[in-house]
Amino acid sequence: RSYNFNAGPAALPLEVLEKAQSEFVDFRESGMSIMEMSHRGAIYESVHNEAQERLLSLLGNPSGYKVLFLQGGASTQFAMIPMNFLGEGQQANYVKTGSWANKAIKEAQLIGKTHVAASSESDKYMKLPELSSLQLSEQPAYLHVTSNETIEGTQFKEFPDTGSIPLICDMSSDILSRPFDLSQFAMVYAGAQKNLGPSGVTVVLAREDMISSSPKHLPTMLRYDTHVGNNSLYNTPPSFGIYMINEVLKWIEARGGLEGVQELNRKKAELIYNEIDNSEGFYQGCVDPASRSHMNVTFRLGSEELEKAFAKASEQEGFIGLKGHRSVGGLRASIYNAVPYESCEALVNFMKQFQEQHA
Ligand code: PLP
Repeated sequence: RSYNFNAGPAALPLEVLEKAQSEFVDFRESGMSIMEMSHRGAIYESVHNEAQERLLSLLGNPSGYKVLFLQGGASTQFAMIPMNFLGEGQQANYVKTGSWANKAIKEAQLIGKTHVAASSESDKYMKLPELSSLQLSEQPAYLHVTSNETIEGTQFKEFPDTGSIPLICDMSSDILSRPFDLSQFAMVYAGAQKNLGPSGVTVVLAREDMISSSPKHLPTMLRYDTHVGNNSLYNTPPSFGIYMINEVLKWIEARGGLEGVQELNRKKAELIYNEIDNSEGFYQGCVDPASRSHMNVTFRLGSEELEKAFAKASEQEGFIGLKGHRSVGGLRASIYNAVPYESCEALVNFMKQFQEQHA
């Protein structure tokens, strides 16, 4: 197996891939693959419901929440959120933390009035804004935050208390990497392809009262009430992806749940950040230490030539995906749940060796 540091789609647990392989052709002695089954049949529906229950159970079963499995990626949620929740005379509030928050804001601007309640633009998004200094607009429809900026490599450690104003979070790149209190949020959403499973499924966790009724003029597929009213089976769901999510959730349970994976993720991130910090400036972390992500470690070298040489040499040694996002350059190691500690050790050894050769 390669040392896979891709930002997304990303590494999946080997154990999950092997389990899926073992039941790929004949699922539960049905003589069919789960991909070939009707989504209205008992076998598929049991997997679908199990995945929803398991997800809520990992989050401590807070009352009043529903799980939706949608399509169109987190990018479609950027539009569906203002379409469903931004009413006449209201403003959609956003915390502007980087590339993904900006994309969410851009979509909301197409739908209605937006307001930036806090921003780290003046720090080039390398330091998260203080959430204690949030300035909400008048008539806020909701506040949207991005828990982990995948491209810049920042991650919130905590979230603001917005009282009666719905807090909505894009958790695409760090969902289930650590425990979090779902009851703090009106809605959390994530594309599956980093910590949850293969691409093609978008998971939405929402308070039922938020999603039980949508504005009447919205198209059927873009209304949350369609999906909650039909248990995410209004149309054909991405059934194989949902089955894979259920297997990934079992894998998380077997690792001690969210506390278990958090501990391992902390160790992985510490290992790489320590290497950066102890390199006497050869490697430079991009992000202010207090804002650093445990999922996407971004760093630079003294010159772009050296960064190119690092990316090339790392590929030759079997490391995948270490080049930074094309919009920001530099280097990035994405170390989601399924990236083994051993891959991070191998990376650190490679970093030491590269430094010895090029310092
Ligand atoms: N939000 C964040 C934080 C992301 O990292 C990504 C993808 O990388 C997205 C949204 C967009 O997700 P999708 O490709 O599922 O639309």
